[in-house]
This record gives sequence, structure tokens and C-alpha cells, in this order.
Amino acid sequence: MIIVLKKSATEKDAQHIVEAARAWGLKTNVSRGVERTIIGLIGDERIIHGKPLDMLPGVESVLAVLKPYKLAAAEGRPEGTRIKLAPVKKGGRTVVIGGPEVIVMAGPCSIESREMLLDLAQLVKKSGAHLLRAGAFKPRTSPYSFQGMGNEGLRLLAEAREAVGIHVITEVMDVRDLDAVAAVADVLQVGARNMQNFTLLKAIGKLHKPVMIKRGLANTMEELLMSAEYVMSEGNHEVLLCERGIRTFETMTRNTLDLAAVPVLQRESHLPVIVDPSHGTGHWDLVVPMARAAVAAGADGIMVEIHPKPAEAMSDGSQALLPKTYLKMMKELDRVARVLGRKVTR
Ligand code: PEP
Ligand code: MN
Repeated sequence: MIIVLKKSATEKDAQHIVEAARAWGLKTNVSRGVERTIIGLIGDERIIHGKPLDMLPGVESVLAVLKPYKLAAAEGRPEGTRIKLAPVKKGGRTVVIGGPEVIVMAGPCSIESREMLLDLAQLVKKSGAHLLRAGAFKPRTSPYSFQGMGNEGLRLLAEAREAVGIHVITEVMDVRDLDAVAAVADVLQVGARNMQNFTLLKAIGKLHKPVMIKRGLANTMEELLMSAEYVMSEGNHEVLLCERGIRTFETMTRNTLDLAAVPVLQRESHLPVIVDPSHGTGHWDLVVPMARAAVAAGADGIMVEIHPKPAEAMSDGSQALLPKTYLKMMKELDRVARVLGRKVTR
């Protein structure tokens, strides 16, 4: 249930509704937009059946959210969610995800060495991108493949973040690593394979830390939204949705990048939508065209993998962009974004 307040409603009106809802045993989510305040009521809605909510002071209208995702649903925050990352250092850049700027997250699939990570962090920062991506804990299909540098990788990531002054996003695979990962990451990443690890989602929901949830290999958009709902229902509303390709019968690409997910998720939800054309295609030469297409489709951000020597990469080398291809892509993405009144770089 969504309660839309009148423009003239006061803070006291909002507070009164919140207290009434609490007394009925419902959770509330107050969204204070520029235009007006919206209050979401979450819980067993049968309780409020028959209660004349629209008679309460300050209430303009009462809408039933028929979707199973109540907090993630677009109706709750029509102006869209903006996630703000405070500068890494004093005087540094504030990153706003879900605003007019199209966010770029770039870096290696895995953290492999200190030198390589620092070099790529510099490159990503210089290119005008917003976040460094790099995995310390890697979800690999084979237990014999490189599993990531783990805590040592996290340490290197913290060093790169500080030294270069760039925000970082990195994957957390296990609740047991959550505190350590959250201590370094500006944005947590829940990988495709963990999209329905509900224990992990609930634990992340208890933190005050943005999280990007990647769509599972065989999950519907509704299931992705329900995963976001798991995090949000625990109190953490800073969630990003990521389309990274789904498994189909097609074999020419690693996955089938479902770009229709961008407008669909934006219609259904107020959460920012990110596209990962690296995992979405699996081949470096397909990454740039699909990144351009994602920006054209209206994505709020792009995540791409880069590597100085893709043939020697410890993971996902075939989809890694060389630095020079990446830099060319950045310029192209900015041009595409500007057609739509957005931008990538300053
Ligand atoms: C990754 O970002 O390196 C990764 C493992 O992604 P996904 O979970 O989408 O496969
Ligand atoms: Mn990868």
C-alpha cells in the first residue's frame, strides 16, 4: 500500500501516519521527494483493509501496490532512486548513481597483483569512469580454477582505492566475508550465482552500504526485483539492479544480454539499472557495441572488464577490453549519452 501525501502535507501529518501504521504492526518506508512525500506500508495489508486511510490529514491518495515487490516498485518513488557515494578523499568526486550521469564501473575481473591493480585503477580514474571494479572472491564454475586472492586481494583493493582516490565495487560471496568486504567496498556486488542467496541478501539489508545485485543466469526480472526486495525489506534501500546476460540456447555468445531488461526494470522499479556487457557477451569484440546499445537503451550505468594482457588473465580474459579499446569506448559512450541529455565524462 502506498500513501501519497498532498503537496501541502506537513511533517507532522507524515509522522502521524507512520505512527498509526506502526501501531497496526506494519513497516513503513517514507520517501521524501522534491514534489511530495510518499509513504509505503509493508506487512499484512489485510490489517488495514477497511481503514479509511484517505481520511487521515495530509493524504491525497492511497494506492494498492499489486506487485509482489513493494519497496522496489516504481510507484513508491516515482522520481527514481539516487545513490550518492561520498568522496573517497577530501575534495574528491561525489558519485551519484541514478542521476543524469551514466556511471561507468571498470577494472579487471579478478585482482591478480598489486602492480596490475594500481595501474588499472589509475587508468580507470584517468578515463573519467566512476568506480573501479575488481574481484577478490571469485565464483568460478570449476573448483580448480583461480578462486581469487581473497583477503589479500581486499587489502590491495583498499590500497588502490586510497592511493588513486577512486570508489570501488567488489563481490561478496559469503556472509562470513561480509564485514571484511564492506569495510573496503563503496558498493557491494552480489554475483549472478548468488542472486538468490537469501541469507546473504538479508545480511546486506542490515548494512548501510549500497549493493548491486546481478541478475542470475536463469532468473526472471521479477525474481531479480524480489532479490532487491529482500535487501530493502531489511532497511537497506540503496540497491542497484544489474543485467548481465541470461542463459539461452544461443552459443555464439556466452550469455544472451537482455537489453529489454533496461526499460522493463525502469518501468517496474525506481532503482538504478546497470548493464554488464562483458559477462553478457563473453567476447571482447562484442562488449563495446553492446555497451553503446545499453547507454542508448537508457541504462544508468555500465560495468566492463579490462586487462592489460587479456590472454594472460586469471579469469574472463576473452571478454576483457585492452586499455586502448576501453578508452575509445569511453569517448563513444559519452557521445551516445549526450544524445539523450546525459553524459559519461565531464
Ligand atoms: C564478475 O563480475 O566478475 C562476475 C563473476 O559476474 P557474474 O556474477 O555476473 O557472473
Ligand atoms: Mn568476470
